[in-house]
Amino acid sequence: MPIEIVGLTGGIGSGKSAAAAHFVTLGVPVVDTDVIAHALTAADGVAMPLLAAEFGRQVVAVNGALDRAAMRALAFADPANRRRLESILHPLIRAESVRQLDAARGPYALLVVPLLFENPDYLALVRRSLLVDCAEEVQLARVQARSGLTAEAVRAIMAAQMPRAQRLARADDVIDNDGSLAALQLQVEAKHQYYLANLAHSQ
Ligand code: ADP
Repeated sequence: MPIEIVGLTGGIGSGKSAAAAHFVTLGVPVVDTDVIAHALTAADGVAMPLLAAEFGRQVVAVNGALDRAAMRALAFADPANRRRLESILHPLIRAESVRQLDAARGPYALLVVPLLFENPDYLALVRRSLLVDCAEEVQLARVQARSGLTAEAVRAIMAAQMPRAQRLARADDVIDNDGSLAALQLQVEAKHQYYLANLAHSQ
């Protein structure tokens, strides 16, 4: 990898995308594994022929993209289906992440990985981890406002992720996103200055 990589992570709705968007305005190259996953499963996505061969036309929507509801139902119904799905998608997502990081230019790049601490494959790529953290009630309210999911459904997703205390214990750096978007952006700018001063020259 040509440049240093900071891994940006956080629970669902913690503010990863909002933080990443501000790093972009500061000129930092951002590689987002969720964005890559979506592109791979779009109508012309590289993963689609593989997924259609594995699970049949039932997981392909009329427009040719992944039928996410159908795929989610299959993955929920049987853990073996989830593993088959992941064994197709994960190597493709990681390979595309590495390709984009190799092409990135600048003092450092940001790699957004929601489950960074659960994935040694991604941890191995990053020099430092940056956690976007907020109180669980704030997280719940933001996800509900964004998605319209019930509180129960959001809590189920949160319960399946690493507990907040464990994420905090593992992170090298933390951004506190309990406050306003302006407060989030100020912290992003402070971390950016820190990375410019300390990371880019640490090789
Ligand atoms: P993630 O990418 O971690 O899932 P997002 O960045 O999408 O989280 O944030 C979740 C939702 O909360 C989005 O609708 C976003 O606009 C909003 N949001 C994030 N941070 C703040 C903040 N500090 N104040 C108000 N709304 C916020």
